[in-house]
Amino acid sequence: MEKVVIFDFDGTLTQKGENAWQKLWQWAGYKIGEGSEYRNLFNRYINGEFSYKEWNDRTCEYLRAGNLTSVKVVTIGALTPMILGLNQTLKTLAENGYKLYIVSGSIKQIIRTCIKDDNYKYFSAVYANDFHYDKDGIIQSITPTPFDFDGKKRFVELMIQSGVNPQNITFVGNSYNDEKVGETGVRTICINPELTRHEDRTIWKDVVYGDSLTKILPLIIDKKHEVQLEY
Ligand SMILES: [Mg+2]
Repeated sequence: MEKVVIFDFDGTLTQKGENAWQKLWQWAGYKIGEGSEYRNLFNRYINGEFSYKEWNDRTCEYLRAGNLTSVKVVTIGALTPMILGLNQTLKTLAENGYKLYIVSGSIKQIIRTCIKDDNYKYFSAVYANDFHYDKDGIIQSITPTPFDFDGKKRFVELMIQSGVNPQNITFVGNSYNDEKVGETGVRTICINPELTRHEDRTIWKDVVYGDSLTKILPLIIDKKHEVQLEY
């Protein structure tokens, strides 16, 4: 019986703080406060004025104009502090037979350099936006992830359609772009909530606070339950 844990990245596998997109805009020389182009574009996407891909494309134009290089992107990743207890959590889940995924609206190259190889190796797959660079190393295009916002829900639905029992799926996230997953009925855990209706139990089944990701382990690994299943 396949058991799966799906993780968001920003604010879930990282410590609370600015998200990767905010850092990218700043490293490309822009402000991110009220009235900024960053805010403006994001609000227009949220308000349905254009698609996720168009939001990516328009963001890319600004980042390119700001000479954002591949070196800067991986440096942002390397400087982003991981949540404490990440390695222990992933190792414990893997040892207990869980398949692990990242389904994120962040950026692949940042995720990889942030969590480092000894954590990355535990994931069966990582879904996120993918940056491409020109010959000078400056960002040229972004392949958008199909699995952000509503897409996170769609990812879980695809997993259920592929034969994984919804009772064996856990999603761990922290914010409003994870909320749709709650509609699938799988177990949802909110860690250190940020701009999400964390008290709504139709969205989040459990909420945990703390510096260490290990806090989610007792909610996922239920030894008693697994023994009962064997009889
Ligand atoms: Mg997040």
